Amino acid sequence: MDTLAAYKEHLREIGKLESALALLQWDQRTNLPRKGHPARAEVIGKLTKMAFEMSVSDKLGQYLDDLQGQEGLTEEERASVRAVGKSYRRHKAIPPAFYEEYAIAAAHSESAWEEAKEKSNFSSFQPHLARMIDYARKFAEYYGYEDSPYDALIEEYEPGMTSAQLSTIIEPLRGELVPFIKRLLQDGKRPDDTFMQGEFPEEMQRTLSSRALAAMGYDFDAGRLDQTVHPFTTTIGPNDVRVTTRFLPHDILSGLASSMHEGGHALYDQGIRDDLRWSGLDEGASYGIHESQSRMWENLVGRSRPFWKFFAPIAGEVVPQLSSVSTEKLYRAANIAEPSLVRVEADEVTYNLHIMLRFELEEGLITGRIHTADLPELWRDAMQRYLGIVPEDDAHGVLQDVHWSAGLFGYFPSYMLGNLYSAQFFATARKEIPDLDEKIAQGNLKELLSWLRENIHQYGKMYEPKELIERVTGEAPDSSYFVRYIVDKYSDVYSLH
Ligand code: ZN
Repeated sequence: MDTLAAYKEHLREIGKLESALALLQWDQRTNLPRKGHPARAEVIGKLTKMAFEMSVSDKLGQYLDDLQGQEGLTEEERASVRAVGKSYRRHKAIPPAFYEEYAIAAAHSESAWEEAKEKSNFSSFQPHLARMIDYARKFAEYYGYEDSPYDALIEEYEPGMTSAQLSTIIEPLRGELVPFIKRLLQDGKRPDDTFMQGEFPEEMQRTLSSRALAAMGYDFDAGRLDQTVHPFTTTIGPNDVRVTTRFLPHDILSGLASSMHEGGHALYDQGIRDDLRWSGLDEGASYGIHESQSRMWENLVGRSRPFWKFFAPIAGEVVPQLSSVSTEKLYRAANIAEPSLVRVEADEVTYNLHIMLRFELEEGLITGRIHTADLPELWRDAMQRYLGIVPEDDAHGVLQDVHWSAGLFGYFPSYMLGNLYSAQFFATARKEIPDLDEKIAQGNLKELLSWLRENIHQYGKMYEPKELIERVTGEAPDSSYFVRYIVDKYSDVYSLH
């Protein structure tokens, strides 16, 4: 077997192990009986180790060395060598003993966080957080960086992004959003949503979500919908991309939004070209690009007036109490914006401010500008400046997210980038698909899906985020699309003049 064939075979072997792992993990979060967890954790640990060893093996390193710069590779093969090579070098840079030490500390830190959050007691978590920051800094040193250690961390989630670039993106966004939210609350008319009150049986909510997913073009023959406490999407393997959602008994819109969000992630993975399967390129370009797909379906489509023109009759058919509510009232009720303390409950207008706050704090923690002891106060201070509200306890403030306790620094910005990218992609789709709004209003969402498939999904991880965005939209990432989208839409919904 020549090197190229052996390299591809090696990646397929890793892909199969990861497929087994994904299924075990999906099962763990959906169906596994409580008592089965300890044994499952051992099996998952074993397979994870095997996959990891294959991904840092000397054999793979040799293939990569031989293939780098080899003549006659296709564009896909060169992209695979580039992407796999990059993650190989990052993995190799971490001494195994150090990684194991970190993994143990992270497990302790996560439990400490859980307890601290329950008791809303930051000081009991603080030493663990300080340790996680030390580890993150060491990871950054092992990976290497040019300007800021934070750049080495964000690379994991958004390849090519730096904290300097993020600051440039955030500055104008903050400048526009913070005063706009103030104006919205002061002068705007909050839409009526009293007709949304009630209790909605799970079966009814499930039907509503399934109708939305089917309209989006989610392939139920290549996936399935289940329920979990924390919704997620997972690719088990080719033609098996599963989504989970959660239904709140008193909030039917929340479950629908969650299903459309995960559906957006799933459409991306279902749309990756078959020849990229198990090639190291069969995943999204980045966390941010992946999130742009989920946010597009959840917000730019799912909370749009055209979508509700199409979906209102379906909602009325599935949910009897909505059958006499006008399309316009449903649309407006789906677009209520108000400052809230908790990120995961935030609407599309205020969401990015939750992320800006986290970015500023975590960047300061990693570079040493901020000390952990000052975090709760800095958090409250930023909430006051951005959203005009302050948490009464740390459980609803600095302790609300799991990420830092697990040592995940540099992850948060991808949520914000997803929102920004989604608006930029959608603006391009609007330009390139004639009458997109009318098509959506007629329930023809496939047109948008085909466009996404053609321009984004099929390529998987072939291009880095910035390159992909430039290929698709002809421009560098630009937050002004998002700002325009939010200001135009909410000025209308809230009757601002
Ligand atoms: Zn998501």
